[in-house]
Amino acid sequence: MDLEDKFREIGGWEEKPKNIQAELRDDISADVVIIGAGLAGLCAALELVKDGSKVVVLEKEFAGFGASGRNAGYLGGALGLKYELFLKKLGNEAAKNVVNFYEEGVNFAEKMFQEYNIQCDYNQSGLIRAAIHPSQEKQIHEEIRIAAELGCSLEFWNNSKMRAKGIPSAFLFGSYIPRGGTLNPGKYILGLREAAIQAGVKLYENTPLISFTEGAVINVKTPNGSVNAPNLIFASNAFTPKMGVLASTIVPLRVSAIETEPLSQAQLDALGWPGREGITTSHHIMESHRLTARNTLVCTTKQLRYIYGSNTPNKPDYVHYRALKNALNERFPFLKDISIKSCWSGYISYANDSIPVVGTLGSSSNIYYATGCSGHGLGTQGMVGHMIAQKIQKKDENPLLSFLMAHKNPSTLPEPFRWCVLNSALYAASRLDEKVNQKVKGL
Ligand SMILES: Cc1cc2nc3c(=O)[nH]c(=O)nc-3n(C[C@H](O)[C@H](O)[C@H](O)COP(=O)(O)OP(=O)(O)OC[C@H]3O[C@@H](n4cnc5c(N)ncnc54)[C@H](O)[C@@H]3O)c2cc1C
Repeated sequence: MDLEDKFREIGGWEEKPKNIQAELRDDISADVVIIGAGLAGLCAALELVKDGSKVVVLEKEFAGFGASGRNAGYLGGALGLKYELFLKKLGNEAAKNVVNFYEEGVNFAEKMFQEYNIQCDYNQSGLIRAAIHPSQEKQIHEEIRIAAELGCSLEFWNNSKMRAKGIPSAFLFGSYIPRGGTLNPGKYILGLREAAIQAGVKLYENTPLISFTEGAVINVKTPNGSVNAPNLIFASNAFTPKMGVLASTIVPLRVSAIETEPLSQAQLDALGWPGREGITTSHHIMESHRLTARNTLVCTTKQLRYIYGSNTPNKPDYVHYRALKNALNERFPFLKDISIKSCWSGYISYANDSIPVVGTLGSSSNIYYATGCSGHGLGTQGMVGHMIAQKIQKKDENPLLSFLMAHKNPSTLPEPFRWCVLNSALYAASRLDEKVNQKVKGL
Protein backbone atom coordinates (compact mmCIF):
# COMPACT_ATOMS: atom_id res chain seq x y z
CA MET A 1 0.00 0.00 0.00
CA ASP A 2 1.87 3.07 -1.22
CA LEU A 3 0.73 6.24 0.47
CA GLU A 4 4.11 7.99 0.55
CA ASP A 5 3.43 10.40 -2.29
CA LYS A 6 -0.17 11.13 -1.29
CA PHE A 7 0.48 13.43 1.67
CA ARG A 8 -0.92 16.96 1.33
CA GLU A 9 0.41 19.40 3.85
CA ILE A 10 -2.55 21.79 3.44
CA GLY A 11 -5.24 19.11 3.80
CA GLY A 12 -7.09 17.41 0.99
CA TRP A 13 -10.11 19.56 0.30
CA GLU A 14 -9.05 22.65 -1.60
CA GLU A 15 -6.00 24.46 -2.97
CA LYS A 16 -4.28 27.38 -1.27
CA PRO A 17 -6.17 30.61 -2.17
CA LYS A 18 -4.73 32.48 -5.16
CA ASN A 19 -5.28 35.93 -3.61
CA ILE A 20 -3.09 35.40 -0.52
CA GLN A 21 -3.39 38.59 1.56
CA ALA A 22 -0.20 40.55 2.17
CA GLU A 23 1.84 40.11 5.32
CA LEU A 24 1.58 42.89 7.94
CA ARG A 25 4.58 45.20 7.46
CA ASP A 26 3.52 48.24 9.48
CA ASP A 27 2.54 49.39 12.96
CA ILE A 28 -1.23 49.75 12.95
CA SER A 29 -4.16 50.01 15.32
CA ALA A 30 -7.60 48.39 15.34
CA ASP A 31 -10.70 47.98 17.49
CA VAL A 32 -10.19 44.22 17.68
CA VAL A 33 -7.23 42.06 16.71
CA ILE A 34 -7.92 38.37 16.10
CA ILE A 35 -5.26 35.66 16.07
CA GLY A 36 -6.05 32.83 13.64
CA ALA A 37 -8.25 32.77 10.53
CA GLY A 38 -10.21 29.57 11.06
CA LEU A 39 -13.92 29.32 11.74
CA ALA A 40 -13.71 31.04 15.13
CA GLY A 41 -11.59 33.93 13.88
CA LEU A 42 -13.46 34.61 10.65
CA CYS A 43 -16.95 34.32 12.17
CA ALA A 44 -15.93 36.73 14.93
CA ALA A 45 -14.49 39.13 12.35
CA LEU A 46 -17.59 38.98 10.14
CA GLU A 47 -19.83 39.89 13.07
CA LEU A 48 -17.53 42.68 14.30
CA VAL A 49 -17.25 44.51 10.97
CA LYS A 50 -21.04 44.74 10.76
CA ASP A 51 -21.06 47.70 13.18
CA GLY A 52 -18.15 49.44 11.46
CA SER A 53 -15.42 48.21 13.83
CA LYS A 54 -11.89 48.07 12.47
CA VAL A 55 -10.99 44.39 12.63
CA VAL A 56 -7.54 42.95 11.98
CA VAL A 57 -7.02 39.20 11.62
CA LEU A 58 -3.47 37.87 11.84
CA GLU A 59 -2.97 34.43 10.33
CA LYS A 60 0.29 32.52 10.50
CA GLU A 61 -0.23 30.79 7.12
CA PHE A 62 -3.50 31.39 5.22
CA ALA A 63 -7.15 31.31 6.28
CA GLY A 64 -8.26 27.69 6.61
CA PHE A 65 -4.77 26.30 7.14
CA GLY A 66 -5.77 24.84 10.53
CA ALA A 67 -8.46 22.30 11.43
CA SER A 68 -11.13 24.43 9.75
CA GLY A 69 -9.77 23.63 6.29
CA ARG A 70 -8.89 19.99 6.91
CA ASN A 71 -11.68 18.47 9.03
CA ALA A 72 -13.98 15.63 7.98
CA GLY A 73 -16.92 17.92 7.23
CA TYR A 74 -19.49 16.47 9.68
CA LEU A 75 -21.81 19.20 10.84
CA GLY A 76 -22.97 17.05 13.67
CA GLY A 77 -24.15 18.80 16.78
CA ALA A 78 -23.82 16.66 19.87
CA LEU A 79 -23.83 13.27 18.12
CA GLY A 80 -20.83 11.22 19.18
CA LEU A 81 -20.08 13.28 22.26
CA LYS A 82 -19.51 11.51 25.55
CA TYR A 83 -22.88 12.33 27.12
CA GLU A 84 -22.30 10.18 30.17
CA LEU A 85 -19.05 12.02 30.87
CA PHE A 86 -20.82 15.40 30.86
CA LEU A 87 -23.52 14.06 33.15
CA LYS A 88 -20.97 12.63 35.55
CA LYS A 89 -18.75 15.73 35.60
CA LEU A 90 -21.37 18.48 35.41
CA GLY A 91 -24.75 17.16 36.51
CA ASN A 92 -27.94 17.29 34.52
CA GLU A 93 -28.53 21.04 34.01
CA ALA A 94 -24.98 21.96 32.98
CA ALA A 95 -24.70 18.87 30.76
CA LYS A 96 -27.88 20.02 28.99
CA ASN A 97 -26.16 23.34 28.28
CA VAL A 98 -23.16 21.61 26.70
CA VAL A 99 -25.39 19.46 24.50
CA ASN A 100 -27.47 22.51 23.57
CA PHE A 101 -24.28 24.42 22.68
CA TYR A 102 -23.25 21.72 20.18
CA GLU A 103 -26.78 21.42 18.78
CA GLU A 104 -26.99 25.20 18.28
CA GLY A 105 -23.71 25.02 16.35
CA VAL A 106 -25.53 23.22 13.53
CA ASN A 107 -28.11 26.02 13.22
CA PHE A 108 -25.36 28.62 13.31
CA ALA A 109 -23.37 27.08 10.45
CA GLU A 110 -26.53 26.62 8.36
CA LYS A 111 -27.30 30.34 8.87
CA MET A 112 -23.78 31.27 7.76
CA PHE A 113 -24.12 29.27 4.50
CA GLN A 114 -27.25 31.27 3.74
CA GLU A 115 -26.17 34.68 4.94
CA TYR A 116 -22.94 34.61 2.91
CA ASN A 117 -24.27 32.43 0.09
CA ILE A 118 -21.52 29.83 0.61
CA GLN A 119 -21.80 26.82 -1.69
CA CYS A 120 -20.00 24.12 0.28
CA ASP A 121 -21.69 20.94 -0.99
CA TYR A 122 -23.79 20.77 2.16
CA ASN A 123 -25.85 17.58 2.24
CA GLN A 124 -28.44 17.96 5.01
CA SER A 125 -28.66 14.20 5.37
CA GLY A 126 -28.44 13.80 9.12
CA LEU A 127 -25.74 11.61 10.64
CA ILE A 128 -25.49 8.05 11.92
CA ARG A 129 -23.44 6.68 14.80
CA ALA A 130 -23.23 3.06 13.78
CA ALA A 131 -22.34 -0.25 15.37
CA ILE A 132 -20.07 -2.62 13.48
CA HIS A 133 -20.62 -5.52 15.94
CA PRO A 134 -23.77 -6.71 17.78
CA SER A 135 -21.97 -6.25 21.12
CA GLN A 136 -22.26 -2.46 20.66
CA GLU A 137 -26.06 -2.44 20.84
CA LYS A 138 -26.34 -1.83 24.57
CA GLN A 139 -24.00 1.14 24.36
CA ILE A 140 -25.97 2.70 21.49
CA HIS A 141 -29.26 2.37 23.38
CA GLU A 142 -27.64 3.88 26.46
CA GLU A 143 -26.40 6.85 24.42
CA ILE A 144 -29.87 7.39 22.98
CA ARG A 145 -31.36 7.30 26.48
CA ILE A 146 -28.89 9.80 27.98
CA ALA A 147 -29.08 12.06 24.91
CA ALA A 148 -32.87 12.23 25.32
CA GLU A 149 -32.43 13.11 29.01
CA LEU A 150 -30.16 15.97 27.92
CA GLY A 151 -32.58 17.28 25.32
CA CYS A 152 -31.16 15.69 22.19
CA SER A 153 -33.43 13.33 20.33
CA LEU A 154 -31.77 10.45 18.45
CA GLU A 155 -33.60 7.67 16.58
CA PHE A 156 -32.57 4.04 16.80
CA TRP A 157 -32.16 2.58 13.32
CA ASN A 158 -32.26 -1.20 13.54
CA ASN A 159 -30.71 -3.52 10.99
CA SER A 160 -33.83 -3.57 8.78
CA LYS A 161 -33.99 0.23 8.71
CA MET A 162 -30.29 0.51 7.88
CA ARG A 163 -30.71 -1.97 5.01
CA ALA A 164 -33.87 -0.23 3.79
CA LYS A 165 -31.90 3.04 3.71
CA GLY A 166 -29.15 1.36 1.67
CA ILE A 167 -26.47 1.95 4.33
CA PRO A 168 -23.38 -0.21 3.58
CA SER A 169 -23.72 -3.57 5.30
CA ALA A 170 -20.69 -3.22 7.62
CA PHE A 171 -22.79 -0.78 9.64
CA LEU A 172 -25.30 -2.97 11.43
CA PHE A 173 -27.54 -0.56 13.33
CA GLY A 174 -27.12 2.78 15.03
CA SER A 175 -28.43 6.07 16.31
CA TYR A 176 -29.56 8.57 13.71
CA ILE A 177 -29.86 12.31 14.12
CA PRO A 178 -31.81 14.06 11.38
CA ARG A 179 -30.19 17.44 11.96
CA GLY A 180 -26.89 18.40 10.30
CA GLY A 181 -25.06 16.52 7.58
CA THR A 182 -21.82 16.68 5.67
CA LEU A 183 -20.05 19.38 3.68
CA ASN A 184 -16.77 20.32 2.04
CA PRO A 185 -14.97 22.19 4.85
CA GLY A 186 -12.46 23.69 2.41
CA LYS A 187 -15.25 25.39 0.49
CA TYR A 188 -16.90 26.56 3.72
CA ILE A 189 -13.82 28.23 5.19
CA LEU A 190 -12.70 29.72 1.88
CA GLY A 191 -16.24 31.08 1.45
CA LEU A 192 -15.98 32.76 4.86
CA ARG A 193 -12.53 34.07 3.92
CA GLU A 194 -13.85 35.75 0.77
CA ALA A 195 -16.85 37.13 2.67
CA ALA A 196 -14.53 38.61 5.31
CA ILE A 197 -12.26 40.23 2.72
CA GLN A 198 -15.31 41.66 0.90
CA ALA A 199 -16.77 42.96 4.18
CA GLY A 200 -13.62 44.97 4.92
CA VAL A 201 -11.88 42.73 7.47
CA LYS A 202 -8.12 43.41 7.31
CA LEU A 203 -6.74 39.90 6.93
CA TYR A 204 -2.96 39.56 7.06
CA GLU A 205 -1.73 36.14 5.98
CA ASN A 206 1.79 34.75 6.53
CA THR A 207 1.68 36.89 9.68
CA PRO A 208 2.19 35.00 12.95
CA LEU A 209 1.77 36.56 16.36
CA ILE A 210 5.15 36.34 18.02
CA SER A 211 4.36 38.13 21.29
CA PHE A 212 1.73 40.27 22.98
CA THR A 213 1.41 42.56 25.94
CA GLU A 214 -1.67 42.92 28.08
CA GLY A 215 -3.36 46.07 29.41
CA ALA A 216 -6.16 48.46 28.41
CA VAL A 217 -4.47 48.60 25.00
CA ILE A 218 -2.95 45.34 23.87
CA ASN A 219 0.10 45.32 21.63
CA VAL A 220 0.63 42.33 19.33
CA LYS A 221 3.99 41.89 17.63
CA THR A 222 4.48 40.06 14.34
CA PRO A 223 7.83 39.53 12.55
CA ASN A 224 7.56 42.78 10.57
CA GLY A 225 4.81 44.82 12.22
CA SER A 226 2.54 45.33 15.21
CA VAL A 227 -1.08 46.00 16.11
CA ASN A 228 -2.48 48.02 19.01
CA ALA A 229 -6.06 47.24 19.97
CA PRO A 230 -8.33 47.41 23.04
CA ASN A 231 -9.53 43.82 22.40
CA LEU A 232 -7.78 40.63 21.36
CA ILE A 233 -9.31 37.25 20.47
CA PHE A 234 -7.21 34.10 20.43
CA ALA A 235 -8.95 32.05 17.74
CA SER A 236 -5.91 29.85 17.32
CA ASN A 237 -7.37 26.63 18.73
CA ALA A 238 -4.82 23.80 19.08
CA PHE A 239 -1.94 26.20 18.35
CA THR A 240 -2.75 28.44 21.33
CA PRO A 241 -0.49 26.73 23.92
CA LYS A 242 2.56 27.45 21.74
CA MET A 243 1.80 31.16 22.19
CA GLY A 244 2.08 30.76 25.96
CA VAL A 245 -1.71 30.83 26.47
CA LEU A 246 -3.83 28.00 28.00
CA ALA A 247 -0.75 25.77 27.98
CA SER A 248 -1.92 23.98 31.10
CA THR A 249 -5.59 23.76 30.06
CA ILE A 250 -5.74 22.37 26.54
CA VAL A 251 -3.78 19.80 24.61
CA PRO A 252 -3.53 19.49 20.85
CA LEU A 253 -4.36 16.03 19.48
CA ARG A 254 -3.45 14.99 15.97
CA VAL A 255 -6.24 13.61 13.78
CA SER A 256 -5.63 12.13 10.33
CA ALA A 257 -7.67 11.59 7.20
CA ILE A 258 -7.50 9.79 3.87
CA GLU A 259 -9.53 10.31 0.72
CA THR A 260 -9.96 7.82 -2.11
CA GLU A 261 -9.98 8.52 -5.82
CA PRO A 262 -13.53 9.09 -7.13
CA LEU A 263 -15.65 5.93 -7.25
CA SER A 264 -16.80 4.75 -10.67
CA GLN A 265 -20.54 4.57 -11.38
CA ALA A 266 -20.37 0.77 -10.98
CA GLN A 267 -18.68 1.15 -7.57
CA LEU A 268 -21.26 3.74 -6.50
CA ASP A 269 -24.07 1.41 -7.58
CA ALA A 270 -22.52 -1.45 -5.58
CA LEU A 271 -22.12 0.82 -2.56
CA GLY A 272 -25.76 1.98 -2.41
CA TRP A 273 -25.99 4.60 0.36
CA PRO A 274 -28.33 6.93 -1.59
CA GLY A 275 -28.78 9.44 1.27
CA ARG A 276 -24.99 9.70 1.82
CA GLU A 277 -25.53 10.14 5.57
CA GLY A 278 -22.21 10.77 7.31
CA ILE A 279 -21.34 7.72 9.43
CA THR A 280 -19.25 7.54 12.56
CA THR A 281 -18.68 4.27 14.38
CA SER A 282 -19.24 3.65 18.07
CA HIS A 283 -15.62 2.72 18.75
CA HIS A 284 -13.93 4.45 21.70
CA ILE A 285 -12.02 6.43 19.08
CA MET A 286 -14.49 6.59 16.24
CA GLU A 287 -13.89 5.88 12.61
CA SER A 288 -15.77 8.25 10.32
CA HIS A 289 -16.76 7.30 6.79
CA ARG A 290 -18.51 9.55 4.30
CA LEU A 291 -19.12 10.01 0.61
CA THR A 292 -18.27 13.44 -0.78
CA ALA A 293 -19.97 15.44 -3.52
CA ARG A 294 -17.00 14.54 -5.74
CA ASN A 295 -17.85 10.82 -5.22
CA THR A 296 -14.78 10.05 -3.14
CA LEU A 297 -14.78 8.31 0.23
CA VAL A 298 -13.20 10.16 3.14
CA CYS A 299 -12.18 8.18 6.21
CA THR A 300 -10.92 9.95 9.34
CA THR A 301 -9.88 9.58 13.00
CA LYS A 302 -9.60 5.92 14.24
CA GLN A 303 -6.51 6.97 16.19
CA LEU A 304 -5.50 10.15 18.00
CA ARG A 305 -1.99 11.20 18.88
CA TYR A 306 -0.51 13.63 21.34
CA ILE A 307 2.92 15.05 20.43
CA TYR A 308 5.31 15.79 23.29
CA GLY A 309 5.33 19.40 24.49
CA SER A 310 1.96 20.21 22.83
CA ASN A 311 3.78 20.51 19.52
CA THR A 312 1.84 20.56 16.27
CA PRO A 313 4.22 19.54 13.46
CA ASN A 314 2.68 19.61 10.00
CA LYS A 315 4.14 16.24 9.07
CA PRO A 316 2.74 13.05 7.56
CA ASP A 317 1.71 10.15 9.81
CA TYR A 318 1.89 7.13 7.51
CA VAL A 319 1.22 4.63 10.30
CA HIS A 320 -2.11 6.32 10.88
CA TYR A 321 -2.91 6.62 7.15
CA ARG A 322 -2.30 2.87 6.75
CA ALA A 323 -4.58 2.16 9.71
CA LEU A 324 -7.28 4.28 8.06
CA LYS A 325 -6.81 2.44 4.76
CA ASN A 326 -7.22 -0.87 6.62
CA ALA A 327 -10.40 0.43 8.21
CA LEU A 328 -11.68 1.41 4.77
CA ASN A 329 -10.89 -2.08 3.44
CA GLU A 330 -12.64 -3.71 6.39
CA ARG A 331 -15.82 -1.65 6.09
CA PHE A 332 -15.94 -1.65 2.27
CA PRO A 333 -14.23 -4.91 1.24
CA PHE A 334 -15.43 -4.68 -2.36
CA LEU A 335 -13.51 -1.38 -2.70
CA LYS A 336 -10.23 -2.72 -1.38
CA ASP A 337 -8.37 -2.00 -4.63
CA ILE A 338 -9.42 1.62 -4.76
CA SER A 339 -6.50 4.07 -4.84
CA ILE A 340 -5.97 6.75 -2.26
CA LYS A 341 -5.90 10.26 -3.69
CA SER A 342 -4.62 12.09 -0.62
CA CYS A 343 -3.91 11.86 3.08
CA TRP A 344 -3.41 14.60 5.66
CA SER A 345 -3.40 15.37 9.37
CA GLY A 346 -4.50 18.27 11.55
CA TYR A 347 -4.90 19.23 15.18
CA ILE A 348 -7.91 19.50 17.44
CA SER A 349 -7.80 20.91 20.94
CA TYR A 350 -8.95 19.01 23.95
CA ALA A 351 -9.54 19.95 27.59
CA ASN A 352 -9.28 17.44 30.41
CA ASP A 353 -13.06 17.49 30.96
CA SER A 354 -13.98 17.65 27.22
CA ILE A 355 -15.83 20.94 27.81
CA PRO A 356 -15.11 23.86 25.41
CA VAL A 357 -12.55 26.31 26.76
CA VAL A 358 -13.89 29.85 26.47
CA GLY A 359 -13.04 32.87 28.60
CA THR A 360 -10.96 35.98 29.11
CA LEU A 361 -7.43 36.72 30.26
CA GLY A 362 -5.49 39.76 31.31
CA SER A 363 -5.87 42.46 33.93
CA SER A 364 -8.45 44.24 31.75
CA SER A 365 -10.31 41.01 30.82
CA ASN A 366 -10.05 42.10 27.19
CA ILE A 367 -8.18 39.05 25.86
CA TYR A 368 -10.72 36.45 24.77
CA TYR A 369 -10.15 32.82 23.81
CA ALA A 370 -12.29 30.09 22.26
CA THR A 371 -10.92 26.58 21.95
CA GLY A 372 -11.32 23.01 23.23
CA CYS A 373 -14.14 21.73 21.00
CA SER A 374 -12.60 18.24 21.02
CA GLY A 375 -12.93 17.63 17.29
CA HIS A 376 -16.55 18.80 17.10
CA GLY A 377 -16.04 22.47 16.28
CA LEU A 378 -17.29 22.77 12.70
CA GLY A 379 -20.50 24.38 13.91
CA THR A 380 -19.56 25.55 17.38
CA GLN A 381 -16.19 27.26 16.84
CA GLY A 382 -17.75 29.70 14.40
CA MET A 383 -20.66 30.23 16.76
CA VAL A 384 -18.48 30.92 19.77
CA GLY A 385 -16.39 33.39 17.73
CA HIS A 386 -19.64 35.12 16.78
CA MET A 387 -20.85 35.18 20.41
CA ILE A 388 -17.55 36.69 21.61
CA ALA A 389 -17.85 39.35 18.91
CA GLN A 390 -21.33 40.21 20.20
CA LYS A 391 -20.01 40.45 23.74
CA ILE A 392 -17.31 42.87 22.56
CA GLN A 393 -20.04 44.86 20.78
CA LYS A 394 -21.85 44.97 24.16
CA LYS A 395 -24.91 43.23 22.75
CA ASP A 396 -27.03 40.99 25.00
CA GLU A 397 -24.82 38.12 26.05
CA ASN A 398 -25.90 34.71 24.81
CA PRO A 399 -26.61 32.52 27.91
CA LEU A 400 -24.59 29.70 26.34
CA LEU A 401 -21.57 32.00 26.21
CA SER A 402 -22.10 33.01 29.85
CA PHE A 403 -22.29 29.34 30.79
CA LEU A 404 -19.05 28.46 28.98
CA MET A 405 -17.20 31.49 30.30
CA ALA A 406 -18.21 30.64 33.86
CA HIS A 407 -17.00 27.04 33.52
CA LYS A 408 -13.51 26.38 34.88
CA ASN A 409 -11.74 23.62 32.98
CA PRO A 410 -9.27 21.56 35.01
CA SER A 411 -5.53 21.74 34.38
CA THR A 412 -3.70 19.07 32.44
CA LEU A 413 -0.63 17.34 33.82
CA PRO A 414 2.83 18.81 33.26
CA GLU A 415 5.27 17.02 30.94
CA PRO A 416 6.48 14.29 30.82
CA PHE A 417 3.42 12.93 32.71
CA ARG A 418 1.04 14.51 30.19
CA TRP A 419 2.66 12.69 27.29
CA CYS A 420 2.76 9.36 29.18
CA VAL A 421 -0.79 9.50 30.53
CA LEU A 422 -2.45 10.78 27.35
CA ASN A 423 -0.72 8.41 24.97
CA SER A 424 -1.26 5.46 27.32
CA ALA A 425 -4.98 6.26 27.47
CA LEU A 426 -5.18 6.67 23.69
CA TYR A 427 -3.28 3.43 23.20
CA ALA A 428 -5.59 1.56 25.60
CA ALA A 429 -8.64 2.92 23.74
CA SER A 430 -7.16 1.75 20.43
CA ARG A 431 -6.52 -1.73 21.86
CA LEU A 432 -10.15 -2.01 22.99
CA ASP A 433 -11.32 -0.87 19.55
CA GLU A 434 -9.04 -3.41 17.91
CA LYS A 435 -10.70 -6.16 19.97
CA VAL A 436 -14.06 -5.19 18.46
CA ASN A 437 -12.50 -5.16 14.98
CA GLN A 438 -11.14 -8.66 15.57
CA LYS A 439 -14.59 -9.84 16.67
CA VAL A 440 -16.04 -8.39 13.46
CA LYS A 441 -13.48 -10.34 11.41
CA GLY A 442 -14.54 -13.47 13.28
CA LEU A 443 -18.21 -13.07 12.38
C1 LIG B 1 -8.76 15.82 10.66
C2 LIG B 1 -9.83 16.57 11.41
C3 LIG B 1 -11.15 16.17 11.30
C4 LIG B 1 -12.17 16.89 11.97
N1 LIG B 1 -13.45 16.58 11.71
C5 LIG B 1 -14.45 17.33 12.24
C6 LIG B 1 -15.80 17.10 11.86
O1 LIG B 1 -16.09 16.28 11.00
N2 LIG B 1 -16.77 17.83 12.49
C7 LIG B 1 -16.47 18.80 13.41
O2 LIG B 1 -17.40 19.40 13.96
N3 LIG B 1 -15.19 19.08 13.71
C8 LIG B 1 -14.18 18.39 13.15
N4 LIG B 1 -12.89 18.69 13.44
C9 LIG B 1 -12.62 19.82 14.36
C10 LIG B 1 -12.86 21.20 13.71
O3 LIG B 1 -12.25 21.23 12.45
C11 LIG B 1 -12.30 22.28 14.63
O4 LIG B 1 -12.95 22.20 15.89
C12 LIG B 1 -12.48 23.69 14.08
O5 LIG B 1 -12.18 23.79 12.72
C13 LIG B 1 -11.58 24.66 14.86
O6 LIG B 1 -11.69 25.93 14.29
P1 LIG B 1 -10.81 27.12 14.88
O7 LIG B 1 -11.11 28.32 14.07
O8 LIG B 1 -11.00 27.21 16.34
O9 LIG B 1 -9.29 26.65 14.70
P2 LIG B 1 -8.36 26.38 13.42
O10 LIG B 1 -9.14 26.12 12.20
O11 LIG B 1 -7.35 25.38 13.82
O12 LIG B 1 -7.68 27.79 13.20
C14 LIG B 1 -6.61 28.26 13.97
C15 LIG B 1 -5.75 29.14 13.06
O13 LIG B 1 -4.74 29.79 13.85
C16 LIG B 1 -3.59 29.94 13.05
N5 LIG B 1 -2.41 30.20 13.89
C17 LIG B 1 -1.71 29.30 14.61
N6 LIG B 1 -0.68 29.92 15.25
C18 LIG B 1 -0.76 31.23 14.92
C19 LIG B 1 0.03 32.39 15.24
N7 LIG B 1 1.12 32.31 16.03
N8 LIG B 1 -0.31 33.58 14.71
C20 LIG B 1 -1.40 33.69 13.88
N9 LIG B 1 -2.16 32.63 13.53
C21 LIG B 1 -1.86 31.42 14.06
C22 LIG B 1 -3.54 28.62 12.29
O14 LIG B 1 -2.71 28.69 11.14
C23 LIG B 1 -5.00 28.37 11.99
O15 LIG B 1 -5.38 28.84 10.71
C24 LIG B 1 -11.84 18.00 12.82
C25 LIG B 1 -10.50 18.37 12.95
C26 LIG B 1 -9.50 17.69 12.26
C27 LIG B 1 -8.08 18.14 12.40
